[in-house]
Amino acid sequence: MKPSTMTLQPGKEKSLLRGHPWIFSGAVARLDGIHEPGTTVVVRAANGAFLATAALSPDSQIRARVWSFDEGESIDEGFIDKRIARAIARRAALFASSRALRLVHGEADGLPGLIVDRYDSLLVVQILASGVEYWRLPIVAALVRHTGVNDVFERSDADVRDKEGLAARVGVLAGAQPPAQLEIVENGLRFAVDVRHGQKTGFFIDQRDNRALVGEHARGAVLNCFCYTGGFSLAALKGGAEHVLSIDSSEQALALAAENLAANHLSPERAQWRCADAFLALRELRNEARQFDLIILDPPKFAPTAAHVEKAARAYKDINLLGLKLLREGGLLFTFSCSGGVSPDLFQKIVAGAAADAGVETQLMRRLSAASDHPVSLDFPEGDYLKGLMLRKVGSRSVRSGRQ
Ligand code: SAH
Repeated sequence: MKPSTMTLQPGKEKSLLRGHPWIFSGAVARLDGIHEPGTTVVVRAANGAFLATAALSPDSQIRARVWSFDEGESIDEGFIDKRIARAIARRAALFASSRALRLVHGEADGLPGLIVDRYDSLLVVQILASGVEYWRLPIVAALVRHTGVNDVFERSDADVRDKEGLAARVGVLAGAQPPAQLEIVENGLRFAVDVRHGQKTGFFIDQRDNRALVGEHARGAVLNCFCYTGGFSLAALKGGAEHVLSIDSSEQALALAAENLAANHLSPERAQWRCADAFLALRELRNEARQFDLIILDPPKFAPTAAHVEKAARAYKDINLLGLKLLREGGLLFTFSCSGGVSPDLFQKIVAGAAADAGVETQLMRRLSAASDHPVSLDFPEGDYLKGLMLRKVGSRSVRSGRQ
């Protein structure tokens, strides 16, 4: 069957020539051939020159996602198999030390819209675009073949599927039903993961290295806001914190966090779990004049896309301002944003604004990002979704004048 041809508007080939894998609807002049979701199209410049092969998403603003920039490469089961094998091979060294890791990270692995997390003997898959939806069964077969893992569970229930016109889907893709809870070990700590009902694929494995870093620096009183199942809290306790106050709005997550604490034989007296809206809880702590030696702020995605940036910026500023006030002089703040719509640069500016308004002088100790099994392609900066700052509060200063 002859593939369809997508012809771009004059001048709209530039981002593709730089290697960016997305084609927006506004760039498309014509589509000749089949319009079925997920089918392969040959993308051509206005002058007819070959640019790429891509998967069609007829209902999305991102109208096509590139499979290959190589004209000689056909997009078939063999191609899918090679891409999956390559992504897994890239993580072989890491798998030797961590049994919970991301095996496929979308665009950065040449598989746009596909996320695969491995939890030891279970794979959890998120299919978030029409192209990978079309190749769903060959993808599952390749995953089983190259990992030797038989049990594959699908958690394609992220909001972004709506934008592709795809309904949410959760269920077994291969092998057996996953257990209600499975156990993983991260940095020497045991965590129960609920892949069926937990957030994302069940665990935020992207924060593995940052949790280890918090463990290295933990001491005194620690505050962990947006704690989920206690990843940072347990890392801090194991690392030497005296006491950790952890806040999350999900009772389910907190219940699992308390179980995780017990499974690691850490004293419940050193941990306090509070089910609350962090925005309110931070204000209460400020009103009580509480002080902490280390604070973690790891909120959910406030800005899924660039359209939400302004509102998100206010929310980030608010929690960071409060966090910096609650920090003792010499204390450390680990602050994160996982919003695709907020660049690392912008995030740093927002936090700098919060520090200025809080009247706090800080030092940037380190810039933080997702662990290396979540790589970023330089051609696709949008993939740099998780960014963080490790800051030290070094003093106070007068609040900037001229401020509202
Ligand atoms: N730091 C965690 C991951 C955080 S994910 C880890 O290392 O595993 C974001 C968390 O924020 C989720 O657990 C979610 O339940 C929680 N959350 C979302 N909105 C919240 C709010 N307004 N107040 C408190 N927690 C919130």
